[in-house]
Amino acid sequence: MENLIRESQKFKDLHRQTIGYINLNPLQRGGILSDDARKMISEWADGYSVCDFCDGCLDNIKNPPINDFVHEKLPKFLGTETARITNGARESKFIVIHSLCEKGDTVLFDSNAHYSSFVAAERACVNVVTTPETEHPEFKINEDSYAEKIEEIKKETGKPPKLALLTYPDGNYGNLADAKKVGGICREYDVPFLLNGAYSVGRMPINAKELNADFIVGSGHKSMAASGPIGVLGTSEEYEKIVFRKSEKYKIKEVELLGCTSRGLPVITLMASFPHVLERVWRWDEEVAKARWFLDKLSGIPGIKPLGVQPTGHDLNFIETPVFYEISKKHKKRGYFLQKELKAKGIVGIKSGLTKFFKLSMYLLTMEEIKTVADAFFDIYDKYEGLLE
Ligand SMILES: *Cc1c(COP(=O)(O)O)cnc(C)c1O
Repeated sequence: MENLIRESQKFKDLHRQTIGYINLNPLQRGGILSDDARKMISEWADGYSVCDFCDGCLDNIKNPPINDFVHEKLPKFLGTETARITNGARESKFIVIHSLCEKGDTVLFDSNAHYSSFVAAERACVNVVTTPETEHPEFKINEDSYAEKIEEIKKETGKPPKLALLTYPDGNYGNLADAKKVGGICREYDVPFLLNGAYSVGRMPINAKELNADFIVGSGHKSMAASGPIGVLGTSEEYEKIVFRKSEKYKIKEVELLGCTSRGLPVITLMASFPHVLERVWRWDEEVAKARWFLDKLSGIPGIKPLGVQPTGHDLNFIETPVFYEISKKHKKRGYFLQKELKAKGIVGIKSGLTKFFKLSMYLLTMEEIKTVADAFFDIYDKYEGLLE
């Protein structure tokens, strides 16, 4: 036991090696805490810190004002009648699938859907049909394919899918399909429609009602400047009673939420960052302009080009960089050279070992920082251009 204590104590000296660097990881850029949230950390970091005045129902807690946040502010923000806090976007998706479907039912996903949507479906024991595979270089979802697939599912199973899901945008290319159109198609067939906004809720303006969505899902740690794990789930009135049904034994506890969800620091940071989130959503156009500026600039390096629908409409972008791949074949650090060179220039967040293509985001970086990043890629190219001969 003493040994275990001694070994475990080494952990306290661990430092995160990305602090102070420009971080380009799309997964992390929208989850950076607001200053207001950071200030509240130490006071609220203890376990169950929000439960001092709880009457048994998390979303009814008045101090801290979770009640007002969940029942007033959040539905307004999401464009839904009802909202709840969950432990993540994937938990939100599972809650919807699990409450709408029975074992063996079929759901329809876009083919760019996130793995967590598939795993949520698998956990709920439902079959997934996807829209046709998307193709290089745009990887575009064809909205009309939802109608075709719904027809196909009807023909094969005798009934329409229990749920249709659109990833908005998808987590690889940042493509924003015409969600309103997909929602309209689903409405025609009377199929409930879920928007996965893990990369949009908290970054860009998005309103479930305007996009014909019955459900909307967001991720606090990905796109709402919260520490997490925390997610949000909005539903229309029609599905509220099904999704948030109460336990028979414990009358105030909602079954799908297992009674209560995020109970501590994550919800505090989510609420503290909310004004900052509203403000940045308001200025979304600037972020898209920055992303376009960066992609345009980087296209000045031979062979580099963005994938996904262009011009980009999102900060998450995927670029093909065959020149860096060619360099990596001759460099002694191989696939790790790019990461090492960038780190030396104060930049992190490109997935380890990748040189041929990777995702990045300039979200909320200043123009000065973005120029630093662009210059870094040009410098690295110039430095090793000779290896290409
Ligand atoms: C990150 C991501 C998720 C998962 O979000 P969590 O809140 O961590 O569960 C789901 N869908 C997409 C498209 C994502 O990019």
